[in-house]
Amino acid sequence: MKKKILIAGNWKMNGKKGDFTFINSLKEFLSKNSLKDIDVLICPPYTLIDRFSKLTSRSSLNIGAQDCSTKESGAYTGEISSSMISDLNANYCIVGHSERRIYQNETNKIINDKIVKVQNQRLNVILCVGETLAERKKSNTLKVLGNQIKGALKNNVKPNYLDIAYEPVWAIGTGLVPDNSDIELVHNFIFKKLSKLYGGRAKNIRILYGGSVNPKNVSTIISLNNVSGALIGGASLKIKDMKAILKQLI
Ligand code: PEP
Repeated sequence: MKKKILIAGNWKMNGKKGDFTFINSLKEFLSKNSLKDIDVLICPPYTLIDRFSKLTSRSSLNIGAQDCSTKESGAYTGEISSSMISDLNANYCIVGHSERRIYQNETNKIINDKIVKVQNQRLNVILCVGETLAERKKSNTLKVLGNQIKGALKNNVKPNYLDIAYEPVWAIGTGLVPDNSDIELVHNFIFKKLSKLYGGRAKNIRILYGGSVNPKNVSTIISLNNVSGALIGGASLKIKDMKAILKQLI
């Protein structure tokens, strides 16, 4: 069976309780348009997950988290565990976003631990990987990605609860996007790595592209080889842009 495309919005530290109008509007859009080959996901801050999950419980709109703890419970002030995320009826969790790797010093080992915790709750992981501009300039992109994938998927990862997002750090929020050939080169590389790890099951792992995706470039990006979705930051905060993106793919 052909896997569905995943269009995922990462709201980062944006959003307020009044944004239920955004969710209702997107829900209505999904009910009026036939998106049978597309999964749609919004990952708001933790504070909005419960509210949004309740709003979307009878719709095809998925709600996810942007991160989770490596720990299950206990004296870890400020942390949120994967079981708490599951309690809120989210069904996805982003792990290893470059902003967390950079600002929270997340290592591949930490990311691997988080993936295991998320998957233990039967939540889908979106693992983010991507090179910095400095790494790209040194022609180290594939080496960096290879190490990130190897480290993050080192122990006890279930491929059936896994998607990967290739997000070049220099393309996030900048309006810059790699050439189509570069995106394909990287996505083919990631697919080969996943095939080595998981054999035929790699085909079920979606490889999303993320970094300055917008209504104008989304259809070309999605048409590229081994690109099976998009992780979207800035444009996912605007209902007009989200609908315009989805319209391009119907
Ligand atoms: C992101 O941060 O995951 C992202 C892709 O952001 P943007 O779409 O704004 O570049």
